[in-house]
Amino acid sequence: MPRVSRFPHSLIITKALYLGLVTLALVVAAAGHPHPGRGFAVELGVGIGFVGFVMLACQFALTAKFRWLSRVVGLDDLLHFHRQIGFASLVFIVLHVGILLAAQPEYVRYLDPRVNIPRALALWTVLLALATLLVTTVRRTELGLSYEWWRLGHGLLAFLILFIGLVHILQVGWYVATPAKQAFWIGGTLLAVGLLVWTRLVKPFRTRRRPWTVTEVRRERGRSWTLALEPRGHEGISFHPGQFVWLAIEDSPLLHIQHPFSIASAATEAPDIELTIKELGDHTSRIGEVEPGTSAFLDGPFGDFVLDDNAEEAVFIVGGVGITPVMSILRTLRREGATLPRTLIYGVPRVDEATFLDELEEEATTHESIVPVVEDPPAHWQGEAGRVTPELLDRHLPRDHAGVRYFVCGPEPMMDVVEGHLRRRDIPLSRTYSERFNIA
Ligand SMILES: Cc1cc2nc3c(=O)[nH]c(=O)nc-3n(C[C@H](O)[C@H](O)[C@H](O)COP(=O)(O)OP(=O)(O)OC[C@H]3O[C@@H](n4cnc5c(N)ncnc54)[C@H](O)[C@@H]3O)c2cc1C
Repeated sequence: MPRVSRFPHSLIITKALYLGLVTLALVVAAAGHPHPGRGFAVELGVGIGFVGFVMLACQFALTAKFRWLSRVVGLDDLLHFHRQIGFASLVFIVLHVGILLAAQPEYVRYLDPRVNIPRALALWTVLLALATLLVTTVRRTELGLSYEWWRLGHGLLAFLILFIGLVHILQVGWYVATPAKQAFWIGGTLLAVGLLVWTRLVKPFRTRRRPWTVTEVRRERGRSWTLALEPRGHEGISFHPGQFVWLAIEDSPLLHIQHPFSIASAATEAPDIELTIKELGDHTSRIGEVEPGTSAFLDGPFGDFVLDDNAEEAVFIVGGVGITPVMSILRTLRREGATLPRTLIYGVPRVDEATFLDELEEEATTHESIVPVVEDPPAHWQGEAGRVTPELLDRHLPRDHAGVRYFVCGPEPMMDVVEGHLRRRDIPLSRTYSERFNIA
């Protein structure tokens, strides 16, 4: 089975590089600045503004869907970082305004349209856009915003704030006096906007050149459907079991309607692949209506939820549809006759909702221990009942050693319990692979 080398501290390194970039921007701003200081508070306010701007610009890189980055860091870690930085950049921008107003109250005139209409309009627009960005992100579900429209609006608002921010920096002119410095800020902003255009327009459009055909739509247990796909006129994609793709179905009228789904089929079945999709919201609840013969478009593969080349044993702790990436790993190991010992702890609400349970049990090999955990078990159920708890994990986890890899994927509360327990058992993060399906 294709394995990958895993770089254990990749997220920390990504964060360090990020910090380095923000610091570099401050150094560039301060270098050769000819003007005398305007007092500590004002300089602090301005510096914080620059940092907020750079952080915002870097947000576009974090969501740019770089395959190589998702393989070393993991999409959910990246998006979690993106979310944290989003809030932090917001705080920096608000602090920028607050500190400057506190230090120099007369700056309030810049917000007064009677003094300078374009400048006041721009500043109010930024403040309003920031507030909208925050509220729609934190309260998306309550506002009834679909993920796709939220994502589109999110990108457009971020672009607007960045654009006005750049004009503001150039207009104020402090710390950007030389053409080289202006080129730095304009170039950096263009790069960020370029990444947005690349991710949201160019990449989805490019996937259209490599179409796939839906060959079968199969109902599975647990309100799920399996979509079998075959590449049309190309060699398909080369993936590691456990990775995912972004799927767009032909009848999506807009290019931005792409959803992430793990590949559930074995790597040995390539170039054909299967995705198993649970009915959940507006898009997935219509997946069963897709007709065989329909075209589909895939962007990927992405993700680091894969066995690395030093793994000697694997433990999978999954819940519900979180079984999909693990199916790909298990199916591949089984088809290849791999002897790697593996344990699967699979939490489901009821037996009749346990997607793939029959296949998992019927095709189990001597190298596998399959532990279904049924929350609401039928009468005479002999197996584990209830939820996946620390006590249950202690009963079934194998003895830990440096070669054991832990894979966790399922509903958020289950993942929190499992990850917390693995930490308590001193299992290092470098040997734990988590995939969170809810990334918004
Ligand atoms: C890495 C990864 C792998 C996944 N693998 C599978 C899988 O194998 N099988 C499966 O059934 N589900 C999988 N999911 C979850 C699946 O993507 C969502 O259930 C699906 O997109 C929900 O869409 P919806 O419009 O029907 O639901 P909604 O109710 O609109 O959305 C529910 C939640 O799904 C997420 N979501 C919705 N639309 C998108 C989108 N366009 N892009 C990203 N996230 C979105 C958001 O977190 C949202 O809050 C995976 C998710 C991720 C991140």
